[in-house]
Amino acid sequence: MGRLNGKTALVTGSSRGMGRATAIRLAQEGALVAVHYTNGKEAADDVVATIEKDGGRAFAVRAELGVTGDVHELFLGVEQGLKDRTGSTELNILVNNAGVMGGVAAEDTTPEQFDRLYAVNAKAPFFIIQRALKNMPSGGRIINISSGLTKVANPEEIAYAMTKGAVEQLALHFAKLLGPRNITINSVAPGITRNGNPAFDIPEVVDQMAALSAFNRVGEPQDVADVVAFLATDDARWITGAFVDATGGTLLG
Ligand code: NDP
Repeated sequence: MGRLNGKTALVTGSSRGMGRATAIRLAQEGALVAVHYTNGKEAADDVVATIEKDGGRAFAVRAELGVTGDVHELFLGVEQGLKDRTGSTELNILVNNAGVMGGVAAEDTTPEQFDRLYAVNAKAPFFIIQRALKNMPSGGRIINISSGLTKVANPEEIAYAMTKGAVEQLALHFAKLLGPRNITINSVAPGITRNGNPAFDIPEVVDQMAALSAFNRVGEPQDVADVVAFLATDDARWITGAFVDATGGTLLG
């Protein structure tokens, strides 16, 4: 018996990286998972196929976040997918994972780049939560993916870190609002975690990144997915409004 049998979940940005690992992990625990993507249709279909091959249940949903009508489009797909499979649009677990990095020095960041970072990383999660709460019953779980960069300085990613600081505010304030509904909301902050970035193909760069962790390795997507999955279960019912450090000890200094 999985710990999430009978539950439904939406993981934004789950065609790749931590989102992919989280979707697969939640499905292993028994949840029916909406695998959200933007450009990576093939990758999202592959996540669904991987889950189904293991006996799990999932469906893919496309919606570009950070543009007008994004949340409406997302929930059209999510609700249809849930209804087709469960007869209901109830959503138990929301993981706000989709995000974009800045990669632009502070002095070169344009207002348009800044607005885009905010629209995808901070504004979209707020309105996805607002919309998801219409479908979320007692016992619901909201997990927002932040970043260790809210606690450790990186002058290369100031605007990006600002968006993640905003994301962390969601857990603090929504936790108070949602406690009476028996819904928890928490932030999970990964450290450097392997994704499709070409930097992970360069051994010397990986060594430098690994040295930032107390465990002397970079994070794997599954390292973060396991933490998210725990917060989604009933075992985590007494944790809300929390900042969960999933950086592999990077913040220890
Ligand atoms: P990836 O870069 O591997 O994947 C990003 C995912 O988000 C993809 O599924 C992508 O969809 C989706 N996405 C990106 N932009 C949009 C958009 N505008 N609308 C909808 N979906 C979008 O992600 P990571 O695993 O690296 O990161 C996941 C989260 O963790 C992010 O919030 C990131 O900021 C955070 N994080 C990452 C760290 C790291 O070292 N990797 C460290 C700390 C935090 P598609 O490919 O289909 O377009």
